[in-house]
Amino acid sequence: MIQGITAIVGRPNVGKSTIFNRMIQERKSIVEDTPGVTRDRIYGKGEWLTREFRLIDTGGIQLADQPFQEEIRMQVEIAVAEADVILFVVNGREGVTRDDEFIAQMLQKSKKPVLLVVNKIDNAEMSLNIYEFYSLGLGDPIAVSGVHGIGIGDVLDQMI
Ligand code: GDP
Ligand code: MG
Repeated sequence: MIQGITAIVGRPNVGKSTIFNRMIQERKSIVEDTPGVTRDRIYGKGEWLTREFRLIDTGGIQLADQPFQEEIRMQVEIAVAEADVILFVVNGREGVTRDDEFIAQMLQKSKKPVLLVVNKIDNAEMSLNIYEFYSLGLGDPIAVSGVHGIGIGDVLDQMI
């Protein structure tokens, strides 16, 4: 069976790991290196409509002592190099930020297929928040709530 690879990119705290954990089948496992320090897992496997896929949470791949833009640049480069499809996660409660625009430009240059996932849309009233993300030039934003599991199936349908 052919397995596609999907990579998740986006600023810190937009909900990448929450979405990652929802999409993978194995129970969430947190790798503990040092007492008090938890590290998110980065690789996972999922299944949707009889298709299997592999998932990479690039937010868990970090560079020590590098400015934020260098770190995010490296994460996006890994996503572009490794993945067939990229999930670009943004925060629907905060609106479009300069860092989102920076990431969007890198993704556009890459010519990879990108799904624009607007997270933290926890209820119907908030769904209007997705429209401003059209300005990123990455097509139709998909509203999701990683915490509540809303819209994740729509993203998986398009991923497949
Ligand atoms: P990451 O840094 O992009 O991996 O973000 P995380 O998955 O660690 O989530 C960051 C914070 O946002 C956590 O406190 C999550 O509980 C919260 N969060 C994630 N998804 C949602 C969502 O759909 N709605 C709300 N309200 N909070 C969320
Ligand atoms: Mg994370």
